[in-house]
Amino acid sequence: MSEDYNPVSMDKLVSLCKRRGLIFQSSEIYGGINGFWDYGPYGVALRRAVEQLWWRHMVEDRENVEGLDSTIICHPRVWEASGHLEQFSDAMVDCRQCKKRYRLDQLDNPDLCPDCGAGEMTAPREFNLMMKTFVGPVFDEDHAAYLRAETCQPIFVNYELVRNASRQKLPFGIAQIGKAFRNEINPRFFTFRSREFVQMEMEFFCRDDEAMQWYDYWREQRWRFYTELLGVPADRLRIQDHENLAHYARAALDIEFAFPFGWGEIEGVHHRGTWDLTRHEEYSGRDMRYLDQESGERFHPTVVETSCGLDRICLMLLANGYAEDLAETKKAGKQEDVRVVLRLPPRVAPVQAAVLPLSRKLAVPARALFDQIRRRLRVEYDETGSIGKRYRRQDEIGTPYCITYDFDSENDHSVTIRHRDRMSQERVAVSRVAAWLEEKITG
Ligand code: ATP
Repeated sequence: MSEDYNPVSMDKLVSLCKRRGLIFQSSEIYGGINGFWDYGPYGVALRRAVEQLWWRHMVEDRENVEGLDSTIICHPRVWEASGHLEQFSDAMVDCRQCKKRYRLDQLDNPDLCPDCGAGEMTAPREFNLMMKTFVGPVFDEDHAAYLRAETCQPIFVNYELVRNASRQKLPFGIAQIGKAFRNEINPRFFTFRSREFVQMEMEFFCRDDEAMQWYDYWREQRWRFYTELLGVPADRLRIQDHENLAHYARAALDIEFAFPFGWGEIEGVHHRGTWDLTRHEEYSGRDMRYLDQESGERFHPTVVETSCGLDRICLMLLANGYAEDLAETKKAGKQEDVRVVLRLPPRVAPVQAAVLPLSRKLAVPARALFDQIRRRLRVEYDETGSIGKRYRRQDEIGTPYCITYDFDSENDHSVTIRHRDRMSQERVAVSRVAAWLEEKITG
């Protein structure tokens, strides 16, 4: 990893996110609820931008990937077929002294409480992670249903309907973005392990003898998504091949990021064999085979999956982008103060440019410029407070370009654009600002 990498403390990141309206604890006025997070104005903008980038890259830019938006609650049989009701569990242990609960696989010593140090732990018990609810007015087992634990199962269930409607032939994919719920035993590391989160998944259906080629292809595509489209330094990412594979799988890997708390998974790429389709065939009684029109052959397609968490990607971008800039503040003549800056990729920054008139007297032309660019980019207008404070605020929410309309602008029809990262400034003609920004932001 590069030497200048100095991970931000999670406390600082959490506090910046709260202060600047990126992410806050859900139900905060009631003391919060563990494992649930709300996204404020700038957090929503970031999350949507990342989601849209994924959708464009995975669906809209490809002719062989279709979209789906299924419900969160499905027929309970879906989760029987997928194996979730039976197997989707973690072993948990409790400390008999302080009553804290842990996931067994996250303890270094299963007989010692890492919190209070007591050596009295309960025997491990299996704990199912599916969130349960009831559908209809009667709250009994016949009306029990589950919030989906992953977005991919409805893809398998709808596979034939989507294929038919889209007239796709193998190989092709189906993608979905949506909420997933897991009753995690120990939610932690801010949004990294939440109980409600967003997944972005794509299931790619292909012939079995081509599956490993597609697996390599998707590994490469997903790596490029992070390193090229989101600009995450390759040395803060790594690929971990799974050693223990499910019996039906031929390969699986995790893409991990160096979070301040250690390496953490952001995405999995999995060879899933024909497991899901054959299980749904068994449980539903429907023929899930693909019919090759030319050869007349019927078979179950093999599936390669890409599965990532939107909240973890956003957390990665925030952790990767957070910096405290002492040198720059010193340059500006302030000895003690540090400049906090979020170096978010301009394509997904919540605010891509801010228009800041030097004085309220310049509001009319500055607003005209703002109205012109806001149609094409996410732009904010701010005329309150000193220009220095306004820059600071924009730095903290990750705005890559600040446009200052000053008194000279009236005469030379130009504005000053300040770069967030280098803090350098350049003069650009008002008529060129929109094109200049677009060129810099989307290339
Ligand atoms: P972990 O081992 O961290 O629990 P997993 O291997 O169970 O994750 P998958 O089931 O492969 O995760 O889910 C795919 C993606 O969904 C993960 O790479 C992650 O980005 C996201 N994800 C999974 N669980 C959570 C969670 N509790 N909170 C936020 N995102 C999650």
